[in-house]
Amino acid sequence: MMDPPFDYGTYDEGRYLNYWDLNPVLQEEVRRLYPDDEYEWAEEKLREFGRIVGHTIADNADRIDDHGPQLQTHDKYGELLNDVQYYPDQFENERLIYEHGIVADAFQAPPGRDEPIGLLHTLTEQLLLSYADTGLVCAQSMTSGAALTLRNHDHTGDYDEYLDRLTSKEYETAIEGAMFLTEEQGGSDVGAAETVAEPVVSPSQATGAVATEARATQDGGELQTREYELTGEKWFCSNIDAQGTLALGRRPGAPDGTEGLSLFLVPHELASGELNDQRYRRLKDKLGTESVPTGEVEFDGTTGYLVGEPERGFKYMTTMLNWERVTNSVGAVGIIGRLLLESKIKAANRDAFGQAIQEFPLMQRDLVEMAVDHEATLTFAMEAARWLDRYERDHDDGEAFRLMRLLVPVSKHVTTRKAVETASYAMEIQGGNGYVDDFVTHRLYRDAQALPIWEGTANVLSLDVLRAMEKEAAHEPLIELISGRLAAVEHPFLEPLKETVETEFEQLQEALLGLAVADDETAQYAAKEVTEYVYDVVTASLLLERAQDHLDEGEARKAIVADLFVERELDTGSTGVRTDATPAMDYFDAIVRYDDLDETDLPNDPLRT
Ligand SMILES: Cc1cc2nc3c(=O)[nH]c(=O)nc-3n(C[C@H](O)[C@H](O)[C@H](O)COP(=O)(O)OP(=O)(O)OC[C@H]3O[C@@H](n4cnc5c(N)ncnc54)[C@H](O)[C@@H]3O)c2cc1C
Repeated sequence: MMDPPFDYGTYDEGRYLNYWDLNPVLQEEVRRLYPDDEYEWAEEKLREFGRIVGHTIADNADRIDDHGPQLQTHDKYGELLNDVQYYPDQFENERLIYEHGIVADAFQAPPGRDEPIGLLHTLTEQLLLSYADTGLVCAQSMTSGAALTLRNHDHTGDYDEYLDRLTSKEYETAIEGAMFLTEEQGGSDVGAAETVAEPVVSPSQATGAVATEARATQDGGELQTREYELTGEKWFCSNIDAQGTLALGRRPGAPDGTEGLSLFLVPHELASGELNDQRYRRLKDKLGTESVPTGEVEFDGTTGYLVGEPERGFKYMTTMLNWERVTNSVGAVGIIGRLLLESKIKAANRDAFGQAIQEFPLMQRDLVEMAVDHEATLTFAMEAARWLDRYERDHDDGEAFRLMRLLVPVSKHVTTRKAVETASYAMEIQGGNGYVDDFVTHRLYRDAQALPIWEGTANVLSLDVLRAMEKEAAHEPLIELISGRLAAVEHPFLEPLKETVETEFEQLQEALLGLAVADDETAQYAAKEVTEYVYDVVTASLLLERAQDHLDEGEARKAIVADLFVERELDTGSTGVRTDATPAMDYFDAIVRYDDLDETDLPNDPLRT
């Protein structure tokens, strides 16, 4: 086990290390946010997972990146195969994470517990997994997302066998999930979907779901079957060959738009062992996320099993979308964590002009700023994750629902954009090597760029933030959340920072009030700026709250982190060039190497220039 302060000069690169041990900020958030009994159970599991990811999975991920999946559409006789072939290391990585319980532990009580662990734990493991492999996080996240969607929205028990296998620890029988939403004419505009779902008229012809044959029920005189034939085309299908795929389609006569969409389970293979009647046209030649195959699928009389009630598909899909978005966000933080680690190691080991580059003021400033970005994004993403977890524990928890609805799109937008920016700069810190395929920044940069695009672009997420406020009045619990965090802050060092945040908080509230009465065009125009403003004010309040708690114990490192965040993101009063090098010179070890900082070592005033 490694303890801070870390001497990054003793590591050659950011692997063959334990990512959990090397991230005290994550450890602290987990300690703070997990219920006590869950933390007690989870700590060793997280340490174990950080070790596995930092060793075998990180190594395999680099090789898989060079040997991405290949699609064989037909065999030599022209028979349809729909076969995706994987590099063997992929199976080892999958086995390691699923047998560890990354999905299963949140659905079935793991050894040592009477109940499943909360989804926050899955998300923490996803964050760690993202240090190594974003593509694998995508596949795994869609597996837990599909399971969550089935669990929440199908109460017939028909698909229990799917659910059991999606959440299984037995790698040989486990299946994965996927979601096919995007069509060529509509990714953001999901309601533009043209896939048609025709009921299979005679239930006796049903080829059968895994658990039971498709059922026919008499509903208001109308014969309803659960088995459908889908016709259409899906344009971006990650984890294309998953057995637990969920897809949207429109039944005959259903309304246009999202209101007319139903949700279907579309397995790769039918219970008979035959291939489902669909054609995997090709895999996309993507910039990154090589370890997950993303392709195009043609449905042509493809069997799909209705999930839940018809025409409720888009609503059901929001369970999966929220989940995917929050996993993207913690995933972005994991990438930032790896980039930060690689940057620190490089800066400690590389000499230029006769000394280690981490000794130079500019590099110290770079590392301090990257560390603050990491800490800020981590704190926000875990807060969003916490509310989603809370809502999934209790669907009657209105506060959790409203905060999840608002914080998840904010988190997804800001953290994924920050991951791309950080990847670009971390590559530069590696110098020329960073741009070369042999070095991991090359892959992290390519992988990071998928995050802002899939599961909703910045603009789409910002509009979703508006919707959360319009429909759920989500700004109300948001205001309480921020006020509650700031109320606890009273240390003299933090007081001026708190005042700054309070001023910005007032302006944020004015902006939110303004949005409520603005015409649609104006509201849309402002949506992204407001989204980022919410991130800044919430993050500042969370960091100040944590800084206060640490100061109560005489520990001042977090106060400097909060100070730097507020000064950079919110203190609009500071203009001109910052010439005060104190953060880099005096607090480098505390911020970058996680050294202790005593309260008595704080400056008299916050470090504003
Ligand atoms: C690697 C990868 C994997 C993917 N995997 C999957 C998958 O497994 N399943 C799946 O369903 N999809 C998947 N997608 C698709 C992805 O979700 C969509 O590409 C994405 O949602 C954007 O949709 P689009 O491509 O149709 O772009 P468009 O919707 O055409 O968007 C183009 C631009 O227009 C902007 N825009 C759209 N509407 C508005 C508006 N109202 N106001 C302002 N700006 C707007 C967008 O922000 C964007 O910048 C994947 C994509 C990638 C890159």
